[in-house]
Amino acid sequence: MTLAGNPIQSNLAEEVNRRLVRIMALVGLLGSALIAASTGTLALIAANRNIVRQSDQISAAISTFLQAEQNGGKQQRMVQLYRSQPLSSDADMLDQLVVFDGRGRVLLSSRPSLLGQSLNDLLDKGALGAGADPATLRCFTQPSSGCRLADRSFHLPWQSTQTEWRVLKPLSFDASPREQRYLVLMTFNSEATNLLVFQQVVLLASLSILILGSLLTVLTLTLKQSLLPGLHRVAETDGLTGLANRRTFMEISEKMLNRGLDEGLPFVLTVIDIDFFKRINDTHGHVCGDAVLRGVAQQIRSSLRGRDLVGRLGGEEFGLLLPSTSAMADSILERVRRQVEASSIDWEGESVRVTISLGAASSERLDHQLDHLYAAADTALYGAKEEGRNRVRWATVPNPDSSAATSPPKTPRAERR
Ligand code: GH3
Ligand code: MG
Ligand code: MG
Repeated sequence: MTLAGNPIQSNLAEEVNRRLVRIMALVGLLGSALIAASTGTLALIAANRNIVRQSDQISAAISTFLQAEQNGGKQQRMVQLYRSQPLSSDADMLDQLVVFDGRGRVLLSSRPSLLGQSLNDLLDKGALGAGADPATLRCFTQPSSGCRLADRSFHLPWQSTQTEWRVLKPLSFDASPREQRYLVLMTFNSEATNLLVFQQVVLLASLSILILGSLLTVLTLTLKQSLLPGLHRVAETDGLTGLANRRTFMEISEKMLNRGLDEGLPFVLTVIDIDFFKRINDTHGHVCGDAVLRGVAQQIRSSLRGRDLVGRLGGEEFGLLLPSTSAMADSILERVRRQVEASSIDWEGESVRVTISLGAASSERLDHQLDHLYAAADTALYGAKEEGRNRVRWATVPNPDSSAATSPPKTPRAERR
């Protein structure tokens, strides 16, 4: 196909490329964000489970202390010791551990200054940490009020501390069975976990950007190399002749002319029309007409150079854009004309021949504007038809827009073709 040899792409190809890259970039970014968000959520759920597990372990240990007949001083020392032990290397640090008795008094505390104080006072003073919700915790001292002391909360990444609590009811072997209840309040410093979650998210987001980016790049390149050329060919070429269709011919011509203007190179635009084509259809039928169109397209293409552009403008009309001076183009166009004239196609035992008329306009005489060149070439084609067909005629006017432009067609265009 002539387009393939041309380094200039049609607008369609550029647009498809642009959109493909944009879609892939969007998919890559959204995919990575999704992976990062799900990783973050999973890491957060794991961190929360860890805290819940630790809280369960601590409150189970406290329950054991309380049941063992150890003296208060020994229990208090164990609580303080518990506070100072790192529970595990990557887990949240236990920052504060307070045990309240059934009346809401501090029985044991990792901070000895809190011993004996009341839960309500400590809540009022905010001494139990940001995560200790007063409205919920006061329920412990008002068991008959109907409010429920919910068990645990979910830690969010922007909270630097997390408070967990458990209500203990150790088995009592006491002869006077006054129900003993304890509230174990645990505050964790979750900065270490937050940092861990953050690191995991950043690591996985970067990894997924890398992997997804590479996969999508490979996919984009594969699509560009395998699928798009086929799509471009269908959208940009004429189905019957395989030449560039009118839209593509015009788009690429415009770009070639603009480049020619920048580089100071001359161009020749030519409009070709098959002579008396209607007769072919009338005499031999449309199928033969189609075969003739294909044959003429083939003859035109084979007599041009790789950098020349050729397209089917519609019906039995073709367009050529030659990066040439008018002198050089004149011999090329004459060669095209002679080649078509000399060729024939065999149709049901008959040799079918056609001739073509060519109207040419050069940027040397006009300018590099496609519409100027096209109008002048079209008028020159009309002149070639008027003069008897099967010939090349050049536009002689300086500018088709000026008053001295090509003499107007004697018959309107619609009638002419
Ligand atoms: P002139 O020398 O003045 O150009 O005469 P002409 O007969 O070539 O011009 P006209 O415009 O009267 O006829 C063009 C014909 O081309 C009419 C139309 O049916 C035929 N045609 C257009 N497109 C196709 C096509 O795709 N296949 C076939 N078989 N015929 C087509
Ligand atoms: Mg014709
Ligand atoms: Mg025509």
